[in-house]
Amino acid sequence: MILIFGGSFDPVHRGHVETARAAQRAVAATRLVWLPTSRSPLKDRSRSTPAQREAMLRLMLAANAGDAGWSLDLGELHAPPPAYTIDSLRRWRAEVGPQQPLGFLMGRDSLQGLMQWRHWQALTDVAHLVIASRPGHAVALPESLQNWLENRQISRPELLQSRPFGHVLLLDTPPWPVSSTDLRSALTDQRPTRDWLEPAIRDYIDQHGLYRSPENPAAS
Ligand code: ATP
Repeated sequence: MILIFGGSFDPVHRGHVETARAAQRAVAATRLVWLPTSRSPLKDRSRSTPAQREAMLRLMLAANAGDAGWSLDLGELHAPPPAYTIDSLRRWRAEVGPQQPLGFLMGRDSLQGLMQWRHWQALTDVAHLVIASRPGHAVALPESLQNWLENRQISRPELLQSRPFGHVLLLDTPPWPVSSTDLRSALTDQRPTRDWLEPAIRDYIDQHGLYRSPENPAAS
């Protein structure tokens, strides 16, 4: 099974890495593909360029070279925005053929906003959805989303291997209470980020003067 992890990764942090690792293990995925988006159509507040986010993801991959099967898909990053997950998943489906199980990994907060995604109901026509825990995001889902989910939900990860797409799995991954937003603000205030950012990524951020100015709340 191939697990695809999409996000803005602005910057990529320990919550992403540990969650991806736990999810890959839980669903026994042989490959984990990091899919940075050029700019989320839902949040227009990117603080670094696509090339800088690519560089930070490459530093993350180098630091975690022991993790088998990790790779980078730059298909969205260098395409003109907006980029949509459904298009990337269809591209992957076309590439791997109809039988290969594909999973798309997201945190619980992303699931909450799923109904705003382009063609969200078609996502499970192409891939499984694998949902990781995220501290502070355990609130109830909209009823129609909850119903949609229950029709697809499975509780045993191994069932994902039995079909190429169509299931939703909610995982109980260990909590990593960190977000890129928290980190951008810590970096603006020049607070330590040791526990959450790979040292090589922190060095890159400092060298390039990223995230120095405060976030524009209007763009959040
Ligand atoms: P921001 O604070 O800018 O919104 P973020 O930290 O949420 O960023 P994204 O790049 O937007 O990071 O997230 C990509 C994916 O990773 C999303 O599906 C998100 O739910 C998930 N994710 C991010 N941080 C965590 C975390 N600490 N634990 C679990 N999942 C996470």
